[in-house]
Amino acid sequence: MYEPLQLLVDGEWRQGSDGITEEVINPATEKVLGQLPHASLADLDQALDVAERAFKSWRRVNPHERARLLTRVAALMREHNEHIATVMTLEQGKTLAEARAEVEITAESHEWAAEECKRTYGRVVPARYDGTKMLVEYEPVGPVAAFSPWNFPALMPMRKVATAVAAGCSVIVKPAEETPGTAIAMARLYAQAGAPPGLVNVVFGVPAEVSKHLIGSTVIRKISFTGSIPVGKQLMRMAADGIKKITLELGGHAPVVVFDDVDVTQVAKMTAAGKHRNAGQVCISPTRFYVHKSIHGRFVETFTEAFRNLPVGDGLDEKVKMGPMANPRRVDAMEGFVSDARAHGATVKCGGERIGNQGFFFQPTVLTDVPDDARIMREEPFGPIAPIVPFSDYDEVIARANGLPFGLAAYAFTASEGRARELAADLEAGMVGVNSLAVASPETPFGGVKESGIGREAGIEGILEHMEAKTVSFAGA
Ligand code: NAD
Repeated sequence: MYEPLQLLVDGEWRQGSDGITEEVINPATEKVLGQLPHASLADLDQALDVAERAFKSWRRVNPHERARLLTRVAALMREHNEHIATVMTLEQGKTLAEARAEVEITAESHEWAAEECKRTYGRVVPARYDGTKMLVEYEPVGPVAAFSPWNFPALMPMRKVATAVAAGCSVIVKPAEETPGTAIAMARLYAQAGAPPGLVNVVFGVPAEVSKHLIGSTVIRKISFTGSIPVGKQLMRMAADGIKKITLELGGHAPVVVFDDVDVTQVAKMTAAGKHRNAGQVCISPTRFYVHKSIHGRFVETFTEAFRNLPVGDGLDEKVKMGPMANPRRVDAMEGFVSDARAHGATVKCGGERIGNQGFFFQPTVLTDVPDDARIMREEPFGPIAPIVPFSDYDEVIARANGLPFGLAAYAFTASEGRARELAADLEAGMVGVNSLAVASPETPFGGVKESGIGREAGIEGILEHMEAKTVSFAGA
């Protein structure tokens, strides 16, 4: 059922030329799923050559033709949803229901990119020079190097691919080595849909070596990365050397501010469900809960009840609602957060421990009495831990919510329309959900402020980040 693991260069699926491989592990069972080939420097050079060649012709393909390719890919994704979702659950751990939904939203992102690339309008500018016509046109920037993480093995790499292709760019994507099968299964569909060889290339290897080689090449004109802040800063420095466009999506630590005029039970249940999605390994996951002191006790009770009764296990089991962490680093990180919180005087209302000794499982965990200087209140947990603390007034909670150097998503719950508008303006984040956790969609820009990143994916903004504006002046027009 698992996907054969290969590199894709110039339309050919193959092993790496120097024979180096690494194991891919099922996080629920710790069994080896397959051997992933690494691309050698020669393989990467070949990928760069073919991406450059493919770009020269693809940039001239009109947007309607590009859209037809992406629409065919989306249809094939739906046709193969069950296979791709199973591969994803095997290698990443999330539940099958979540994996199927991710395949579907990846197909929808392709359809959005297909439609929107037809609307990358330029403009005619009334010229200040007599007898001259001035135009602004959008052109594809050039071959793209894309690097994606393991938490959304379909959406992260393939949204980057779809956007590049829609804009008229070729792409070399390096999906996460921990979850390669999903991207491979999806990239196969590009060939099936009729993509020219070299348009989409898929490589793997030691991440720092692959990114250094690709970003250092003059062929690459645009970098797109989703992952951690330290790596994002490293790639931005490398991009600076070649003055290359870069989009960075680096996670956050989303505050959830709950006022005392809401239906406490409903908001507690809804945010608990949002929190355990993908075992909390979501960059827009609700992660720091500030609940008005008059409802804090009731909120904690309902939230803890939901977490205590959550079926945790292998994501292939349809009864399971939360799978394992994607890798052992996350289990270690969860243990670190909980012991630091305990040392700061926190109360563990439920969970707090790893589950069993096979698979990377961690209990859904609720913490209270957590001071603002505990690590869990300052660093992105990227796991199923919810610290829930009380607040007293608006200005105080806004200062605490905005008090970190991140700003990807932020959430607030209130029945007051006036306060909802104030919150939308006052919360420092790229995406704000007011009485809603649904802040991401193919048609809206996705990205953060401060150290959460630079640039946007999705929406028209995502496509324009893969294009350059060109001014053309026609004399004698
Ligand atoms: P990491 O930054 O080491 O890895 C994240 C991804 O980046 C991986 O897929 C990795 O292969 C890739 N990567 C790492 N170094 C790279 C390099 N030099 N060049 C190119 N790609 C590189 O982080 P991790 O240990 O996997 O996770 C740790 C933290 O990263 C998490 O706690 C979370 O805060 C953050 N993270 C964020 C997202 C997100 O969606 N923004 C996704 C995954 C991880």
